[in-house]
Amino acid sequence: MYIAIDIGGTKMRAALYPDKGIEPLRIKRIKTIGRNKTTLERLVTLIKQVWPERGKILALGVAVPGYLNPHTGIVYSAPNIPNWKQLPLGQILHSKFNTTIMLGNDANLAAMGEWRYGAGQGTHNLLYLTISTGIGGGVIINNNLLVGAQGLAAELGHVTILPDGPLCSCGQRGHLEALSSGNAIAKFVSDKLAKGIRSSLKNIKHISAQDVSLAAHAGDALAQEAMDRAAGYLGMALANFVHIFNPEMIILGGGVLQSGSRFLEKTRIALERYIIAKEYLEHVIITRAQLGDDSGLYGALAFAHTGAIAPLN
Ligand SMILES: [Zn+2]
Repeated sequence: MYIAIDIGGTKMRAALYPDKGIEPLRIKRIKTIGRNKTTLERLVTLIKQVWPERGKILALGVAVPGYLNPHTGIVYSAPNIPNWKQLPLGQILHSKFNTTIMLGNDANLAAMGEWRYGAGQGTHNLLYLTISTGIGGGVIINNNLLVGAQGLAAELGHVTILPDGPLCSCGQRGHLEALSSGNAIAKFVSDKLAKGIRSSLKNIKHISAQDVSLAAHAGDALAQEAMDRAAGYLGMALANFVHIFNPEMIILGGGVLQSGSRFLEKTRIALERYIIAKEYLEHVIITRAQLGDDSGLYGALAFAHTGAIAPLN
């Protein structure tokens, strides 16, 4: 059997799976942050809740929302989880549960989930980006998840697209995340409204990307500009990625992609604009993610499967 865990900013889920198949035998969820216990204590409790009374756990896969080294099991930092800095999570879980522990970045594992069980089934080389409040990414290359030397590869949201551009959540400027994420879209509109640009959004207090998306659909010029600008920069970034990885599929997930076909179309136009040779795009499928919220959990399961064959640590 396998256990897969998806740690989110607000909730954690754990599921017990049979040796083969993706129908969970048990599934539990718990809040990530609570009053009495630390997130680590809550995680251990959650794993115990799905642990089987008999039978062997071949590997435990964990999707973590942060920077970590899958080779050593050390979580360098997880911005939304208090005190997860230089945390030897792999070692701690191994000492408590005595099985192979496979830790992965949540967006990396979401890529793996979509590849194994979602939109990317049957492909060998794919890119996955989740465009929500931030931007995360994952790369499958020659049927393997790209992890890199320190396990930090495929940070696709933090590539510089516009030097001296808007401030990114990481502290740098002009990253893709600062231009095309949900937060970036909302901030672009707020800044324009503060300058007196007219828009149907002017009376909304805390503008979200969803507000902007809805206004864009209704024909609001500023909202359309914000969405098209985000899509344009995304397409530019995708052209860079396509030149590096030459994928056969690009899977886009996250809330911003729910905004409709115009966003995807504008992304595609920009991608074509910046590509150096049409051959790159001749067989590339650009598609939406299929697994939604479950991509991390499925990815953790797929990663646990690979760990049972070849443990990383
Ligand atoms: Zn950044």
